[in-house]
Parts: sequence; structure tokens; C-alpha cells
Amino acid sequence: MVRAHAKVNLDLRVFGTRADGFHELRTVFQSIELHDTLICTERPGPFVIKSRASAVPLDRSNLVWKAGAALWKALGRPGDPCDTVVTIEKVIPVEAGLGGGSADAAASLLAFARLWGGAPVTLLREVAAGIGSDIPFFLSGGTALGLGRGEEIYPLVDLPGHWVVIVQPAFGVSTAEAYTWYDEDRAAGLKEPRELQVLPVPWPSRAAQMVNDLEPPVVRRHPEITEIKMGLKDGGAVASSMSGSGSAVFGLFRTRAAAVRMLGPLAKGGARTHLTRTLTRDEYERRSRVVAKRIPARIN
Ligand code: ATP
Repeated sequence: MVRAHAKVNLDLRVFGTRADGFHELRTVFQSIELHDTLICTERPGPFVIKSRASAVPLDRSNLVWKAGAALWKALGRPGDPCDTVVTIEKVIPVEAGLGGGSADAAASLLAFARLWGGAPVTLLREVAAGIGSDIPFFLSGGTALGLGRGEEIYPLVDLPGHWVVIVQPAFGVSTAEAYTWYDEDRAAGLKEPRELQVLPVPWPSRAAQMVNDLEPPVVRRHPEITEIKMGLKDGGAVASSMSGSGSAVFGLFRTRAAAVRMLGPLAKGGARTHLTRTLTRDEYERRSRVVAKRIPARIN
């Protein structure tokens, strides 16, 4: 059993398009407690993914499948991965910018490494970066700077603990959509002034100013995002922003009570709200360890 914790982006700047077609980024990732749970077991036969969540693909397009196939190959094993069943208990909203698929992939790499006889962490990092830009972050978590496509990770001093309210609008935004809209708006010469938000905590990272360059293009197509942000601010959030490529919006709160007060009022128009909190790198490491559950032997 392994937990796959979601993230929010405390900042996300886009610096144009690279020769390989990816956007050059500078982002600040922050782990949160909200998590999926993966149960990986050995069973003779083909590799299988199970999930009750309709949004989770069960075929080779699942990032957990890609992680399994890539690690299998990197370990020098022939053919497709096998003898493994993965059950994904999905809690992290999909197409929300919370990195759910990437978190699952990273967690599955840790579980497969355990199940398949071990793998050095350097190999896991290499495999992670090959499957998706955000996945290397999920191997260490906490507060971290992501450069390049977001795959080059530099740990930052942890953000002091905050309560987090996530508002998941009734619509999702795929990562590809958000970047297409960003490019379209740039081509049309549209540019928004950046509104910096200072996080009022004794914390030496000036990298996190809660600016998200993907937010204006998404807001132009979904103005509800601004309404939610304002609702969080009016409710006492020290800062609020869209996470990653959206559609989820989050607010940081100093107290649990203040965060809880927002859950009801912001759950309207089909939106869902989630209460969670930030995780430091140490907490993340402890909570993301693979737990080997033994099934007690049956006594007849
Ligand atoms: P990100 O913050 O990485 O942009 P996101 O919220 O946009 O994340 P995900 O929730 O990770 O996106 O999933 C987006 C799509 O990825 C889904 O619609 C689904 O088809 C596909 N997908 C692949 N693997 C998974 C997985 N393990 N869990 C959820 N979705 C997955």
C-alpha cells in the first residue's frame, strides 16, 4: 500500500516554448495531504490496473502503467510487466491541476521497486522524468522549485504549515488545453499584469508569489475561477490561486476553523470543496513510504 499525495503550485511562470515543443517553466510545487491510495499485489498473470473511478483509464494510457513499463525495461526485464495488480483508490480530482496522475505514477514506482527486487533512487528519478514532467517532484515532495519542463527539482525551505481549501469547479481543464489557450492568447498579444501575493509568514522563499501564468488564459474561458479566488480571499485566505493548469483553485489559511468555514459557501454551482493541509518534505517522506501489508494466515 502506498499513498500518492497531490500538489498545488504556489507559483508558475512560463518562459516561452522550447525547440522540443515543451514550455520552459519555473514553478514552486507544494505537497498537500489529499491523496490517492495504491494497492500493489503480486498475482501470476498479466499486469492489471483496477479502479472504481470512471475517469481513471485502466489501459496503457494510465501513467501507472507507463511507470510500470518504463521501470520494468530499466531493470532489464524482457517484454511487458507482469504478475502485478494495482488498485487505484482515486480521491484526487482529475483534470484539476493537482497532479493526481503524476502522483500515482511516482507512488507506483516506489511500490514496484519494492515488489520487483529493488531499484536505486537515481534510476527511479531517471524513469520518472521520462514518463512525465511533474513526476520527479513526487519522488521527494514538500516545497520545491521545478525548472525546465518542471522535471528539474530543487528542494526549498518548507512553507510553514497551512490549511488548504481546494475548490474543484464543475468543469475540468486538461493540461494540453491550458497551454494551447496560453499560446493562443500570447499570439493574440493578450497579456495580464501580474498581481503578486506576499505570503505573510517567516519564510525565506521569494520564489512563491502565487502568480500563475496559466491562470489568465483559463479565466478568460472560465471566469468562475476569479469568483472562486475572490470568495476564498473574502473568507480570510492569506492567498489564493488556480493550481497548475486548473481547474482547481486553492486558498491557504492559517487556522483550520477559518478553512472549514469556506467549505459550505464555496460548494455551489456543481463545485466541490476539499479541506486539506500542506506537508513538509519530512512529513511527505514518512507518509509516502510503501507499507507492506501482510494478510494474516488463515487457521483452519
Ligand atoms: P496535472 O496537475 O498533472 O496537470 P491534471 O489534474 O491536469 O494534473 P490528472 O488528474 O493527472 O490531470 O489526469 C489527467 C488525465 O490523465 C485524465 O483525464 C486521465 O485520462 C489521464 N490519467 C492517466 N493516468 C491517470 C491516473 N493514474 N489518474 C488519473 N488520471 C490519469
